[in-house]
Amino acid sequence: MNTDILIVGCGVAGLYCALNFPENRNILIVTKNIARKSDSYLAQGGICVLRDEDDYKAFFEDTMKAGHYENNPESVDIMIRSSQGVIEDLVSFGVRFEKNGEAFNYTREGAHSAPRILFHEDETGKEITSHLLETARKRKNITLIENFTMVDLICDDNECRGIIGHDENGDFNAITANYTVLATGGIGGLFEHSTNYRHLTGDALALAIKYGVKLQHIDYIQIHPTTLFTKKDGREFLISESVRGEGAILLNSKGERFVNELLPRDKVSKAIFAEMEKEGTEHVWLSLAPIPEEEIKTHFPNIYQRCLDEGYDVTKEPIPVVPSQHYFMGGIDVNGFSKTSMDRLYAVGETACNGVHGRNRLASNSLLESLVFAKRAASDINLNYNSLKDDSLPEVKPEKYENYKEEYKELILRSIEEEKQSHE
Ligand SMILES: Cc1cc2nc3c(=O)[nH]c(=O)nc-3n(C[C@H](O)[C@H](O)[C@H](O)COP(=O)(O)OP(=O)(O)OC[C@H]3O[C@@H](n4cnc5c(N)ncnc54)[C@H](O)[C@@H]3O)c2cc1C
Repeated sequence: MNTDILIVGCGVAGLYCALNFPENRNILIVTKNIARKSDSYLAQGGICVLRDEDDYKAFFEDTMKAGHYENNPESVDIMIRSSQGVIEDLVSFGVRFEKNGEAFNYTREGAHSAPRILFHEDETGKEITSHLLETARKRKNITLIENFTMVDLICDDNECRGIIGHDENGDFNAITANYTVLATGGIGGLFEHSTNYRHLTGDALALAIKYGVKLQHIDYIQIHPTTLFTKKDGREFLISESVRGEGAILLNSKGERFVNELLPRDKVSKAIFAEMEKEGTEHVWLSLAPIPEEEIKTHFPNIYQRCLDEGYDVTKEPIPVVPSQHYFMGGIDVNGFSKTSMDRLYAVGETACNGVHGRNRLASNSLLESLVFAKRAASDINLNYNSLKDDSLPEVKPEKYENYKEEYKELILRSIEEEKQSHE
């Protein structure tokens, strides 16, 4: 197989990147699972936007402060300045955000000094991603192959010529492309407790390490303070930060508050771990009592229902919560147009690191960052477009990949540990 542009992953980053190419380019998207199974579908809280010029300074400062000022200020500026254009695009694809009459209704989350988050109930990610997917499926130049897992890059010296992967039957294939865009999302599948889909195991990161592609801040991993405590296996269910933004409070086993719930995520998580250790408990409690029942049911219908399914009525009782791995701030190092250190190779979304988030991501900046920099990848590829000199398909040797899952996991976790130690 060969194509003009190959995109690996179909969350918001991969899909929006595909939609920003002219229709005369052939785009092939491959995805490890079915298209609906991406973290983008899971985003609950919402997506930030620059409401008006008056909010620029505060939005910039909130993002930098949450990131401990280790953010790349140029990337933050690009993200904020591009936000209105991205929202206009989303609305043109049919995405619906909550409104008060004709005007958008904005919510607020932890560490935001003002309400600037657009949302659709507590399923903003599903609303956005399903419309991007529907639009992509209608475009004749975009082909989507589900259940195809990338396991290797095809590269000569420092030039990427495509990927090697296998389908659900374990049959291997090579795909060459003039440009390859990695949009494989986060690394939560490598951790025991994570809010991410289990199949998101940082495969692009493993390949970047394997081929010496430059990385950035790979030990910057966000722990979300509030996921529903359970002893069951599988993905942890997130209790969105906007629940605390709307007034929910954290309590210890004696029913006492112990932290300002609107501090940045890393600080709230740290306070919860300290409280659990002090009390010798496996979780703390989150009480939604300050939020009117009607608002819980209209703004957070899925959280309400999921908690009911687990045996908790959030309108009447607190729920047990515990911090879990949630987001990967670091990743494959990219410039302001999402280009990696390897020729013809781009990275977008959570797998990439353009420095927007610094050491800690501000709530609801992730969907926005993924979209803004996915669009910029497409514009850079378009501007500099030229074809590979050699698009011949290499011979694929499946036996090389017998233990790739264990090997890649080990490679990533070891590299994260080494990066951590280099700071100590
Ligand atoms: C529970 C939850 C709630 C969240 N809430 C918010 C929120 O309210 N606001 C916000 O801004 N952000 C939120 N986030 C973060 C945000 O959803 C993600 O950071 C963002 O959607 C990442 O998009 P992406 O396109 O990079 O990756 P994903 O949407 O995760 O997509 C990754 C894609 O890559 C594919 N893939 C992975 N590996 C391979 C491989 N080897 N071969 C082929 N395909 C592969 C996957 O199948 C998938 O299609 C939340 C995250 C979670 C988990």
